[in-house]
Amino acid sequence: MAELIDGREIARQINAAVKENILKIRSSAGRPPRLVSLIAGGGEDAEIYVNMQKRTAGLVGVEFSTRTLGADISQDGLAEEIEKLNSDRDVTAIIVQKPLPEGIDHATAVSRIMPEKDAEGLHPHNLGRLLRRDADIVPCTPGAVMKMLRVRGIDLYGKEVVIIGHSAIVGKPLSLMMLNEMATTTVCHIATAKKGKLQAHAKGADVLVVAVGKPEMVRGDWIAEGAVVIDVGINRVGDRIVGDVKFSEAAEKASLITPVPGGVGPVTVSILMRNVLRAYRNQNVGV
Ligand code: NAD
Repeated sequence: MAELIDGREIARQINAAVKENILKIRSSAGRPPRLVSLIAGGGEDAEIYVNMQKRTAGLVGVEFSTRTLGADISQDGLAEEIEKLNSDRDVTAIIVQKPLPEGIDHATAVSRIMPEKDAEGLHPHNLGRLLRRDADIVPCTPGAVMKMLRVRGIDLYGKEVVIIGHSAIVGKPLSLMMLNEMATTTVCHIATAKKGKLQAHAKGADVLVVAVGKPEMVRGDWIAEGAVVIDVGINRVGDRIVGDVKFSEAAEKASLITPVPGGVGPVTVSILMRNVLRAYRNQNVGV
């Protein structure tokens, strides 16, 4: 039976360290770190994420506010709002909340944030730094996955890492971070599934990361004995939240596994706060 990787406990540790570092900088910086979450259109999912951000910001000493725009905002209108936040000295970090209204591109919006204030590590400048292995502000969910593996002492050197999902916010940046740790990295996606090759890839994984958005898609017989399983998925099924992995079956095969909820999710929000700290620190060098 697999051991759990407790995301809530890891998040508590990150939060404590972030809080301590913010306090140290604040005494000389004069102004606090301030994160602004830009929301366009709103919706239930955006509200859940924003509430988690607000709660964690409060815990670590980050001032948090939202700026809510109508669902009819244009791409240019959103860029103008971002520009205002870029030039506001009291705003130290910005996040553009997903989901955005139809027709508004998240990556385009994020590219308008000053890289120094990019709380999610998704600006092309910060993504480019990942390639050079000198990233400071990193994409939050991939950063959370790497942190969880590090805390549990998983040495990735030469390991077979299989990532299912190749999104710009999870799978792609995570693949670079895995390569930076010298893992042999395979990225699977919908085309892998359509060719009927997903299960065979998954079975070869020492570390399997799943970020697809399909409730309990990965079954126990996809998993090698003793593998580490990281489930990034968050899916609402009736009144339950489940991952992309069928937990009860996977836990029979894996050596370590993340639960959903209480796994990658809370750590992701803490890595966001770690990014806010780093942005704040970078903006206060020599103060
Ligand atoms: P996305 O929709 O942008 O990308 C989905 C990926 O899965 C794509 O690469 C697609 O090709 C692949 N895919 C789709 N169907 C597939 C199939 N049948 N077989 C194999 N691959 C398939 O998703 P995303 O934004 O990366 O999110 C993925 C999941 O992770 C969602 O459940 C989301 O809620 C969750 N998520 C969690 C966190 C967190 O903090 N824990 C953060 C971001 C996303």
